[in-house]
Amino acid sequence: MTYDLLIKDGHVLDPGQGLDATLDIAVSGGKIAKIAADIPAPDAARVLEMRGAGRHVVPGLIDLHTHVADGAITKGVGMANCDADDIGVRSGVTTVADCGSVGVANLGVFPAHILPKAKTRVITLVNAGSYAHTMPGPADVNSLADINRDALAKAAEHNPGLIAGVKLRIVGPAFQTIGEEIITSAKAAAKDLGVPLMVHIGDFTAKDEASAARRGELTRFLLKTFAPGDILTHLCTPNSGRVLDPAGNPYPEVAEARAAGVVLDSALGRGNFGIEVARRQADIGLYPDTISSDLTAMGQTFHSLLECMAKFMSIGYSLADVVKATTASAASALGLPHEIGAIAVGRDADLSVIDVVEGDFSFTDTTGKEFRGGYGLVPVRTLKAGEEFSPGWGTHPWGWLPASAT
Ligand SMILES: [Zn+2]
Repeated sequence: MTYDLLIKDGHVLDPGQGLDATLDIAVSGGKIAKIAADIPAPDAARVLEMRGAGRHVVPGLIDLHTHVADGAITKGVGMANCDADDIGVRSGVTTVADCGSVGVANLGVFPAHILPKAKTRVITLVNAGSYAHTMPGPADVNSLADINRDALAKAAEHNPGLIAGVKLRIVGPAFQTIGEEIITSAKAAAKDLGVPLMVHIGDFTAKDEASAARRGELTRFLLKTFAPGDILTHLCTPNSGRVLDPAGNPYPEVAEARAAGVVLDSALGRGNFGIEVARRQADIGLYPDTISSDLTAMGQTFHSLLECMAKFMSIGYSLADVVKATTASAASALGLPHEIGAIAVGRDADLSVIDVVEGDFSFTDTTGKEFRGGYGLVPVRTLKAGEEFSPGWGTHPWGWLPASAT
C-alpha cells in the first residue's frame, strides 16, 4: 500500500488556493501525500468515497474566536466554556482559537489540562484583564491595574509559544472614563509579547446616548491604535461601538485600518451579530475577513461555526467566500498561513467534509430578529492530521441543519 487513506471523488474546494474541482486526496503518516484527479483505490489501505450531492472537501475549518477554557471557569459563576473537541473536530473544525477566556492568573489551565487532551488544535489568546471571565459581571478590565504587563511578560517567558495574542473587550464602565488608556495599555502588553492584539467591539452595557457616542469614539481610537495583524472582532455588532456611524456609514478609520493590514473578524456569538448591520456592510463592500462563532457553553446549544457561515450565505456571500473566511483568511489572521488553512502536499491532513444543503431556513440574529436563508451546512467527517472524527449530534434538537422556515 502506498497510502494510509484515500479520499476519493470529493468536490475539493480550497478558495485560498483557487482550487475547485473533483479530486482525490491521498494521506500518509497524517500528511497529505498526493492530490490528483484519479488516484487508484488499490493504492490505499482505506478509501473514503466522498461523491455526493452538495458534498465538499474543504481545508480543516478554523474558528478564530471561541471559548474553550472548559473547567477553568466555574459553571454557574463565570462564563461557561466549551469542550474544544465538541466545537472542534466533532463539529467539522480542526483549529480553534480561545479568545481571552482566561487572564494571566489562570492561563496555566491550557498547558496543564486543555492542550494535552484536545485532538483539535487550540490556539490561546490571553485576556488583557488578569482575572477575566472567572467572576460574575460583564467587565474584564475595570482599572488600569487589571492589565499586568509584568505578569504577562513572565507568563510568556515561562510558557514559550503559548500566547498567540492578547484579547481586550471594550465592555464596561471603565471605558467611559479611561478607555483610551486601557486600549493603549493592552496594545503595549501585546507589543511586549510580540503578538497581535484582538479587540472586542460592541458594548451591551453602554445603552444611553452619551455612552454609545463614547464607544463610537473609542472604536475610532482603537482603529488608529491598531498595527498590521491586529484583529477587530464583532464587526457586525448591533451594540454601541460599531464601525458604522449613526447614518450607517463606516468611520474613515475602518478603510485605513483594513488597508494597513488589520483583520476584521465577525464573531457572531450570543450578542454581536445584527443582520441589518451585516447586510448594510455587505452593500457597501465592508466584508468580514474572517467568520468565527464566539461559541461558549450557552452558544453551543443553538448554533455552530457552520451555522455562522450559513448566515453569511443568506446575505449573498458564496460558499467559496465563507470557506475562505474560515480557512485561508483565518490561518493568515493567526499568523499560520503556511501551516493550516490549505489542502497541500506535505501539510498535515486537516480536512473538513461538509454537506451544503439547499432549503428554506430560518435564522435569528442576536437582537432576536428573524431572517431566512437558502443554505444549511452539515459536518460529515473531520480529519485532523489524518485522524478521522465523526460529527457529534449537532447543536439543535433535530441535528445540525438550521431551523426550517416552513
Ligand atoms: Zn468571545
